[in-house]
Amino acid sequence: MELVSVLHEDAAQNADTAELLVKEIQEHINGSKQTAVFFAYTTKTIKFVIKAAELVKNKQNSSLVLICFGAENQEQIQHCKDYEVFDYVITGEPEVSSAELLQNLRGTQKTVFITGKTAKAEDLPSPWLDGTLDPVDYNGVVWELSRGCGQKCPFCANHKERIPLPLSRLEKELELFAKKKVPEVYVKDKVFNVDKERALKLLSLMQKKLPDAHYQFSVSADHMDKQLVRAFCALSCSLQINLISSSPTVLKNCGMSFDKKQFAHKIRMLNDNELIFGFNLIYGLPGDTYPSFRETLDYALSLYPNHLEIHRFSLIPGTKLSTGAEKTGIRAENEPPFHIQVSPTFSELDLLKAENLAFACTVFYTAGRAVPWFLSVIHPLKIKPSQFFSDFAEWLRCNNCAKSTGFDPFSQPHTEIEKIQLLFLELKYEEKRLSFAFPVVKDVVCLNGALSRLFAEGEETTLRTMYHPDDILGGSAFDVTAFAEEACAEPCTVRVFNNNGSPDFQII
Ligand code: SF4
Repeated sequence: MELVSVLHEDAAQNADTAELLVKEIQEHINGSKQTAVFFAYTTKTIKFVIKAAELVKNKQNSSLVLICFGAENQEQIQHCKDYEVFDYVITGEPEVSSAELLQNLRGTQKTVFITGKTAKAEDLPSPWLDGTLDPVDYNGVVWELSRGCGQKCPFCANHKERIPLPLSRLEKELELFAKKKVPEVYVKDKVFNVDKERALKLLSLMQKKLPDAHYQFSVSADHMDKQLVRAFCALSCSLQINLISSSPTVLKNCGMSFDKKQFAHKIRMLNDNELIFGFNLIYGLPGDTYPSFRETLDYALSLYPNHLEIHRFSLIPGTKLSTGAEKTGIRAENEPPFHIQVSPTFSELDLLKAENLAFACTVFYTAGRAVPWFLSVIHPLKIKPSQFFSDFAEWLRCNNCAKSTGFDPFSQPHTEIEKIQLLFLELKYEEKRLSFAFPVVKDVVCLNGALSRLFAEGEETTLRTMYHPDDILGGSAFDVTAFAEEACAEPCTVRVFNNNGSPDFQII
């Protein structure tokens, strides 16, 4: 039996993507007598996956067997209307049960649930090494290093203990990635650094076998130390860290502990070593309020993350927080993504405000690549980041760019986001009677923006500045108003370019 894979980078996005996905699937299945189509999903993508499965079924005349996997338990998928489009739903580990199913494949009248059989880590087949997937087909790879997690976060359905995949297999996979010149590796290990010795071994292997790739890791700040920081620094990488919430009440309600000072200390180590990192935040957890979410946001931004991923709390069936939730007054959607709709401490209106605040932060800070200058540029405004983003959310709404309009900051060129940043900053500086300092802000934003485009897209920029770029980038412009009062204007045309692999600029 031939196995083919179809992957869409934007798989969760929209109906057009579903149509494209279906077209690709059809190319593979035309002419086949008996075909099984496997769909992998997460709570975020399940609606899209069902839509794609329905399209496949409606458009294909021959009989197909549709199989989906990704759920940890039956409850999670049964909550989803229309899941009956699938003949089989495999919950838990899919590999062994899928192989058995393919031996005796047939359509069904009613969805059949199969609890996946667990296999030993060393018996799990590698889709890279057995040729099911070819890294050449993709711009990067998702590289699985372990199953399960073991952290037992109360809002998460991943309850399984962590099962590390054998190092010998991972080494061979790295060798294959090196041979195929894989440029980017998304490391699938829920908490990569939880086992320090193994993490160090793997980092050293990555440096030895595939040093030129860019890696993305999920790590725990608690488990970070100097030795690990040094090992991460030897690679081009970015780290994703669960911060979740900084509110003691929220964390207590979730049975989690958090030491703000200790966390900040660990993050300082990353900043001191110029490691790139981002945080995951969740709003709407039990006991969370709109003000406490704003405090979390202010705390997170004070630590200079490169980006923030901010999620509304999902009350996923089967999680610790879902047990008895109805008694606590929390109401959530009854199908994926199970977003919370109201809680005794977070009204519907406040959840909407939080959603808009999170979106404003995503547009301005994350898509706007604002980390190098954000705190110094908003300092003269004498407002907290959360207030700044709340005002920006209102500005986005008035300018028809709110989340509800479908505006997607990541589909815009960075120069467009930069224009938006400058328009809003000019307004805020005017409001606070600081317009005299805006030319400094403009130079800071534009020069850093040009450097970020050089790093991210390899794009060269030529721009006009009011001040000499040495002065703007040299650190003295951190104090925006003092710089505006003291520095001499020196209008320049600046070319920001790649000088033999290093960012550089010249006055032209
Ligand atoms: S949220 Fe992440 S770290 Fe926590 S249990 Fe789930 S997978 Fe593990």
